[in-house]
Amino acid sequence: MSRPYYIAGNWKMHKTRAEAAELAKALVAGLKDGKHKYLAAPSFTLLETVGAILKGGNILLGAQDCAEEEQGAHTGEVSVLQLKDLGVQVIILGHSERRHLYKEDDALINKKLKLALKHGFEVILCVGELLEEREAGRAEEVCERQTTEGLKGVSAEELERVTIAYEPVWAIGTGKTATPNDAEAIHAYIRKIVGKLYGNEAAEKIIIQYGGSVKPENAAQLMAQKNIDGALVGGAALKAETFIPIAKFQAV
Ligand code: PEP
Repeated sequence: MSRPYYIAGNWKMHKTRAEAAELAKALVAGLKDGKHKYLAAPSFTLLETVGAILKGGNILLGAQDCAEEEQGAHTGEVSVLQLKDLGVQVIILGHSERRHLYKEDDALINKKLKLALKHGFEVILCVGELLEEREAGRAEEVCERQTTEGLKGVSAEELERVTIAYEPVWAIGTGKTATPNDAEAIHAYIRKIVGKLYGNEAAEKIIIQYGGSVKPENAAQLMAQKNIDGALVGGAALKAETFIPIAKFQAV
């Protein structure tokens, strides 16, 4: 089965509205003839501005997180209802910065994920091990736990709206990319876990992105691996000059 490539940009906590609009316009122009699936995920405050520019094109609008409740007394949080109102189509959940800086655990991420799916969103579930976990030989175990716990209670039908992003934490924003072989090994393992949970057909279908210092120079080599179906890009997503060549990588 051939899976579409899916290249997503996580803009994190960067850009003003004017800067975001400039980047979004450049992406629309640069990717209008792009052949893959694309996503831009700016901060909450930029969603309306960026959404208006992406509307009707081939780049999906994504949010970087959501609250675990629909509404209520949750100061500082943003709900799925508010995201839907802004035209958001995809929500990134369980990013390592949410897990490690903001102490989100698997149960909380799972609650958010189920709520997002219930409201019709696509989600990107991020998983990945810390450097000490990799060095202790626990990378597979950590990814298995985050995948299994993250997907708890998700139906096979809902799984069709889930993408998994394997992002080894030691490779995020550090300039250190996992080698294509190391990344491929974990991707294959995650696909096997999805197979155990949902069967082979679902495992063959699910898109698994790689994230961690993806750049124009290493994108094609990563994407050439059998189980790597795209990229979740941080730093290089902040400039059209670096995101577009990744999004339009030339298969090797
Ligand atoms: C990310 O934050 O998801 C990420 C992969 O960042 P970077 O590309 O900067 O490593």
